[in-house]
Amino acid sequence: MGNRDYRLVYVTTGPFLLTIPSFVIDCMIKDRVDALPREVISRLLSRHVLVDSDEPEVKDELKHIEDASKDKSHRIFALMPTSLCNMHCSYCGQVTCPLHFDGRVSAGVDARVLAAIENPKTRYVEVRWYGGEPMMAYHRILASSGRYVSSADRQHVRYWSSMSTNGSLMTVDRLQALYDEARLRNVTVTVDGYGDCHNRSRLMRSGRPTYDFIMNLLQRIAGKQSDFTQLLVNIRINITAANAPSISQLFDDMSARGMNEDNFNIQLIPVYDWGQDNSAMKLSKATLDRLMPQLIRQALHLGLHTGVFPSARRDVACIAVNQQAELIDSRGSLYSCTEFPLVKPYEENDILANVLNLNSAALRPMGRYDGWIGRLEDASVACSRCTFLPVCGGACPKRWQESIHPCPPFTRQLSERFNIAAEQWGMTSITDPSDDQKSLKS
Ligand code: SF4
Ligand code: SF4
Repeated sequence: MGNRDYRLVYVTTGPFLLTIPSFVIDCMIKDRVDALPREVISRLLSRHVLVDSDEPEVKDELKHIEDASKDKSHRIFALMPTSLCNMHCSYCGQVTCPLHFDGRVSAGVDARVLAAIENPKTRYVEVRWYGGEPMMAYHRILASSGRYVSSADRQHVRYWSSMSTNGSLMTVDRLQALYDEARLRNVTVTVDGYGDCHNRSRLMRSGRPTYDFIMNLLQRIAGKQSDFTQLLVNIRINITAANAPSISQLFDDMSARGMNEDNFNIQLIPVYDWGQDNSAMKLSKATLDRLMPQLIRQALHLGLHTGVFPSARRDVACIAVNQQAELIDSRGSLYSCTEFPLVKPYEENDILANVLNLNSAALRPMGRYDGWIGRLEDASVACSRCTFLPVCGGACPKRWQESIHPCPPFTRQLSERFNIAAEQWGMTSITDPSDDQKSLKS
């Protein structure tokens, strides 16, 4: 006890996870900060645990979010070079079709990305390759990327790309080409549980199973870490009632295959309604709140990497609230939200423009959710009073508008996640696990 008592503190404005002596926390709770040594106060200030202003911190946060959403130095293009997908996943509401960028659309898309790169205000350009399945347009991606990378290098603009892929058409050689020629720095591959659990949920249209293919690929990538030093590999696991029992076995398999390299990261995402009603597949919140911390604990125990708490700020919730960001589908139609293309009725109702008739240097027109950040200032909106706003950004405006609370699961699992963080740091809990203000003994 005594000065060996600490509390873990998650400072969302950092974000930082800190251990702070309990007597310091007690002074803060009792409003007796003046009793603390000056150097302690100054360290608390430097880590944003204390602020030297009477203004509510949320005001600063809202200003920060608004400024970030108007930051003209960072342009984001989510591109769907094809609407085709070779899988037919059980929870996907996309109505895919064989359309892809034709010559005119491709030229229009290139013109927009190149105009952004050449704009003197631009310092960063990020292209996110989406689909359908983007690897069905692999050669188009390489061709366009070559133009973007050359122009960015000439203009001294930092350029990088990311891709969400089902992995079925990826090979190590293709990944290497994307890494070298398309500056691919972040790839997300979905694996929905172990073996046949994955195969049942993520069906190939041909009926071919993909678990072994994708896991063998990921294993080879993990073994070639030195060739992909700047690539983050996200393994996304969509949690459903059907696959939840097999995720533990998936982790064992991942560990056995060496996927505990530093550039591998596991994302646990409870399934929600992606363009269709998935309620029959969802686990209850209570079950998720028991299961997710167990899985995180197991993953970390095996040396796999996954976040206990968000480790970065989320200044802008998503592309739908940032006019410097846009999505262009395979027909050249511009949208603001990634869940509009290929999903009815948004696909037709929420087209903002087309690359064939919009000035390539103009920002996209305002979309359905561009006013969302302004609404955050309204005290009746939950996010405007929320401690987690700096690391959550207000989550998904589409879901808020559809009256679905999109708060991330970690916000309901604080006690267990603090316990996991404490275990990681070799600390032992000395209080009831249901207590969110956890005291810990080193
Ligand atoms: S979405 Fe939920 S957790 Fe995120 S800022 Fe809003 S109220 Fe907070
Ligand atoms: S509004 Fe929601 S679904 Fe649309 S881009 Fe933003 S987070 Fe994604």
